[in-house]
Amino acid sequence: MNSSDFYKTHFTQIYIMTELQNHPVVQQVLVELDSVPCTFINRKEEIPSRHLHQHTLFINKPGVPVVGRCPGSKGHFCCNYLTLDLYTGCTIGCTYCIMKGYLNFSPITVNMNIEENISLIRKWAYNNPDSTLRVGTGEVGDSLLFDPLFRLSRQFVEAFSGNKNIYFELKTKTGFVDHLLDIPDKGNAVIGFSLNPEVIAREEEPYAASLDKRIQAAVKAARAGYAISFHFDPVFRYSGWENDYMEVIKRMSVIPEEKVAWISLGTFRYTPRLRAQIDSRWFLFDEFVPCRDKKFRYIQQVRRGMYEIMIGGIRNVYPKVPVYMCMESPVLWHQIFGKKPGKIDDLCSIFKPVKIS
Ligand code: SF4
Repeated sequence: MNSSDFYKTHFTQIYIMTELQNHPVVQQVLVELDSVPCTFINRKEEIPSRHLHQHTLFINKPGVPVVGRCPGSKGHFCCNYLTLDLYTGCTIGCTYCIMKGYLNFSPITVNMNIEENISLIRKWAYNNPDSTLRVGTGEVGDSLLFDPLFRLSRQFVEAFSGNKNIYFELKTKTGFVDHLLDIPDKGNAVIGFSLNPEVIAREEEPYAASLDKRIQAAVKAARAGYAISFHFDPVFRYSGWENDYMEVIKRMSVIPEEKVAWISLGTFRYTPRLRAQIDSRWFLFDEFVPCRDKKFRYIQQVRRGMYEIMIGGIRNVYPKVPVYMCMESPVLWHQIFGKKPGKIDDLCSIFKPVKIS
């Protein structure tokens, strides 16, 4: 199914803030989704409770920018990422998705206050001339799942193309990159692919693109001039996981090292709320410990072993690409890298805090 068919069959109703009714993006979306009933509203609360689910599309105009610091995780190193909530909600349906409990009861929301967000991010970039701003839209949904319909990412890539210290990242489990390939100047835009072995993609990421499709999309994006990032998060432990992940690393290595901006790693973790929703999944039958952020993780020595294997595999194909762990404890950073991320040459710019206000 192509993306257009997917949107038409997925959405069963649309709610749009009245002030957006003449917006060209909204007009074009209404043409594409002409068979889906649409209602204009003045307040989000007008959406009936029976429509508060992921088959509803809500096109919103928030009164304030929707960009800020990644909330991070108490007691764990945060990589100073800035999150832009352009598309909120996701229908890929990963069984392990930590946002499952929250997103399932919300419409897919598209925040159309583009200019305000662009201005604010540019202001922060101007105020932090010696720092790198990494901004991404993949925190509360998939950056590209609905982007072929709205084409909002394009506006950000174009707007930031002249800002040398903004790295705008689009993180996805889709292969939807074609609509972004012809942007003449991509600046420091990064297209990030979340990867897992085929068996995990097939069993646990029901509506994601296959591993092959994600790699093919990465190849296309790299050839078109984008930097590429890879995210192994979550990494699962199961019998034979090492070989499966090494196979993924081998396959992603078709992207030349100089095109890879960074690679992140995070072992599987869960909140009690997620566990209550999925307590029969095979990956929960392991040993986990509660951590300071109230998430449960594999025990420390297991995580250490997993990170060492993953980093060893990555270093075989990409000796110089920055590799970091997402939301990991200072102890593990010390055990694996021997120092804090801020003291590691190729990571210090990523982990250097930026001042925002
Ligand atoms: S792609 Fe990301 S946001 Fe979407 S369901 Fe999977 S983990 Fe959750």
